[in-house]
Amino acid sequence: MEALSNRINSLPVSATLAMAAKARELKNKGTDVIGLSLGEPDFNTPDFIKEAAIQAVNDNYNSYSPVDGYMDLKEAVCEKFKRDNNLVYTPSQVVVSTGAKQSIANVCMVLLNSGDDVILPAPYWVSYSAIVTLAEATPIIVPTGIDQNFKITPQQLEASITPKTKLIMFNSPNNPSGTVYTEDEYRALANVLEKYPEIYVLSDEIYEHISYSGEVFSLASIPSLYDRTITVNGLAKAFAMTGWRIGYIGAPEWIAKACNKMQGQITSGTNCIAQRAAITALLAPVKKIQYMVDEFKMRRQLIIDLLRKIKGFKVNEPDGAFYVFPDVSAFFGKTFQGQTLRNATDFALYLLEKAHVATVTGDAFGDPNCIRISYAASETQIKEALGRIAKALE
Ligand code: PMP
Repeated sequence: MEALSNRINSLPVSATLAMAAKARELKNKGTDVIGLSLGEPDFNTPDFIKEAAIQAVNDNYNSYSPVDGYMDLKEAVCEKFKRDNNLVYTPSQVVVSTGAKQSIANVCMVLLNSGDDVILPAPYWVSYSAIVTLAEATPIIVPTGIDQNFKITPQQLEASITPKTKLIMFNSPNNPSGTVYTEDEYRALANVLEKYPEIYVLSDEIYEHISYSGEVFSLASIPSLYDRTITVNGLAKAFAMTGWRIGYIGAPEWIAKACNKMQGQITSGTNCIAQRAAITALLAPVKKIQYMVDEFKMRRQLIIDLLRKIKGFKVNEPDGAFYVFPDVSAFFGKTFQGQTLRNATDFALYLLEKAHVATVTGDAFGDPNCIRISYAASETQIKEALGRIAKALE
């Protein structure tokens, strides 16, 4: 332990770990735990993508690929950006990585120095703060809360900017809240950023296709931001391909080049079979994956309706992704079955122990009043889980 680096010792222990360990412990004892803590679709990868991968194996794709991805994959990424996001990128502005997680890590490693601040509107995806810390910069967490539908306001943004601010990370549709920024809201934030040309913007759009309110707006499509925005996306969520590990960026060429250099020393090009399948996935009409989005939409309504029936839950109405992020602070300080629930972590642990439903505490995402519930689970599981939760909180 003493021999470990400051780098790893400075990383906070994941707040989800206690939950995951406890859920495993219960499962091992034979308890029927319903997992609503997962961040992945419960669908299989569509057959047309699997077939492309099988074809790639048979075509002997087995050698190292270019570090930043096959040229025809980068071209497919450019076509997708143009088709879905009104974004013009050339292949030299694209880097394909081992998941969007690596894309984000690359960007942080190549842009940030010790002493830089990174604005993270909360709630944010857990790994943002960890990656920023690993890059020796400082996360500046800006709370939003359920009353503003978890969206940072232009005033909040402006107030959080200092001469040390180097980067701000946006994620819409958002994990964990499901919140989606409208074009107007993003334009209002861009108006603030226009005054600070030295600040870079990371726009994580990995849930873009899982959106119930219509189109998702890309920040880089605002001309004043294009030259300093890194658009991050990946195949994990919309194509049910979490394990395939394909993420990518569209960015100013000098940033893409630096990410390529970073990746070249750490992982090299990502898996060649997954890259070949990604071409097929990206070039397919988006309607081919609509059946999953429709199913998520139906479950979203189900879970919102069921949660709203339980007194004490303040429930947001997510417009995208497959999470709901209710505020449970009304329960704090109350005692159930002899157990006093002091905070969201206590609350989530109580649901696990008494209702045998795994969720994730909002603390993990920078919002201590909420819990994240994933509805990437079957209708039957959702109904059963919510019935158990209601009972445990009677
Ligand atoms: N960004 C967000 C907001 C996510 O939720 C996730 C996955 N949980 C990622 C990035 C990472 O995606 P990948 O699996 O492609 O690394």
